[in-house]
Amino acid sequence: AKVIVVGGVAGGATAASQLRRLNQEIDITIYEKDRDISFANCGLPYHIGGEVDERRKLIAATPESFNEKDVSVFTYHEVVGVNTDKQFVTVKNMTTGEEFNDTYDYLILSPGGRARVVPGLENVEEAFALHNIEDMDRIMEYIDENKIQEAVVVGTGFIGMEMAENLRLRDIGVTVVHRNENIYGHIEADVVAVLHQEMEKHGIDLKLNAEVERYRDGYVYLTNNEKVKAPLVIQGIGLNPNTEFLKDSGIKMTGRGLIPVNEYGQTNVKNVYSLGDVMETRYLHVPEQPANIKLAWPAHRIAYVIANHIHGEYNVKFEGLLGTNIMRFFDYEVGSVGIPQETVRNYEHFVIDHQQNFKAGYMEGASKIKIKIYVAHDGTILRASVISKSGVDKRLDTLAAHIRMGGKAQDLVNVEVAYSPPFSSPKSFLNMVGYKTI
Ligand code: FAD
Repeated sequence: AKVIVVGGVAGGATAASQLRRLNQEIDITIYEKDRDISFANCGLPYHIGGEVDERRKLIAATPESFNEKDVSVFTYHEVVGVNTDKQFVTVKNMTTGEEFNDTYDYLILSPGGRARVVPGLENVEEAFALHNIEDMDRIMEYIDENKIQEAVVVGTGFIGMEMAENLRLRDIGVTVVHRNENIYGHIEADVVAVLHQEMEKHGIDLKLNAEVERYRDGYVYLTNNEKVKAPLVIQGIGLNPNTEFLKDSGIKMTGRGLIPVNEYGQTNVKNVYSLGDVMETRYLHVPEQPANIKLAWPAHRIAYVIANHIHGEYNVKFEGLLGTNIMRFFDYEVGSVGIPQETVRNYEHFVIDHQQNFKAGYMEGASKIKIKIYVAHDGTILRASVISKSGVDKRLDTLAAHIRMGGKAQDLVNVEVAYSPPFSSPKSFLNMVGYKTI
């Protein structure tokens, strides 16, 4: 049997290597339209800031290392069409311009998305997005060549926030432009309010309720009538799915160009699977809620499920997502688990806000950890957001595991946590949240 994989990064490369691990016979070909495959997108901002000292550490595998595992990789090869009746893809060799067809028995689609261009910054040479190593290389080269001293970051999603932090760590002056007042808007405004001060403390100029109007002569002009010197602009306003090439394929897509998949990662078309940033699946604990989570875990997990399914192992299923996420912003850690804040209001629930010290209050460096948790009347934890200077990951991960195992809010009192003063309190954080729900 022959498998074609479209896209060679998080979802595609993982599906290919999982499948090869399970099955040494199957023929696997990866088509990737860009230069590199299998790199750590998530680490890119940290190389720009210098925390990841060596570029090569970001590269997990190369076409050569895949070839050694008998997986064929074609970079600079874009899949431009899919014929699902006759089971072939049309591929464009981007170096020669030549097109050819290649047949498959199974097709795995992991084309991800591309960064949205900020309106007003179209064709502006000074404006960059950060999606892959090529972008990272271009940004770093541009900073060095032009001795960049200041930059504007548009958007405060996790890429915008991480870039703002990492540019500051390189001593570049940063202005962040955000269209409303809620920075890092996927988390509740009152939870992340402290990040405004964190920006100020680290010398970031935050422009709220402002959008880019145009770019001229090295300045960004904003809708609030300000202009900001911007020899470098980083755009972080989200992704559009790379699914246009599937338009006439018969593969079902949503109005936003996402691909719905079932518990095996199958699309509506036989032998066609999809994963990663383009997939639409559902939430684990609120199954009627569609989920499109553009993070690494979902891509990696469903890659494993798809590899098993193609290999004929049908017991491995994808159960749905919790959207667990975390980010560091200078001294803070912040993240959430569960359905988005916008959808929480569709379910009857009560909200608990709780805060205490993240470790014993008498320990040096103790400070607050805060949670906002939404609980349905049957005790289902719909969503929770957590912020602190430390210990956010273990609380979120515990919550994710708890919800995954069917745990309700009131059962949090029974989670027996590790305690010693540097880490937590005997009346531990999540236990206290549990007591508040009873
Ligand atoms: P991608 O990894 O984007 O890969 C898709 C590939 O398909 C691309 O290389 C593209 O060129 C190729 N392609 C597209 N169309 C075609 C075509 N027609 N033919 C051939 N090839 C095609 N997630 C986290 O969980 N935690 C983090 O901290 C985190 N940090 C991130 C930081 C950055 C800067 C970025 C960009 C992402 C980060 N993510 C993080 C998100 C995570 O990297 C993505 O969710 C994940 O990479 C998605 O995998 P994917 O395979 O769907 O898409």
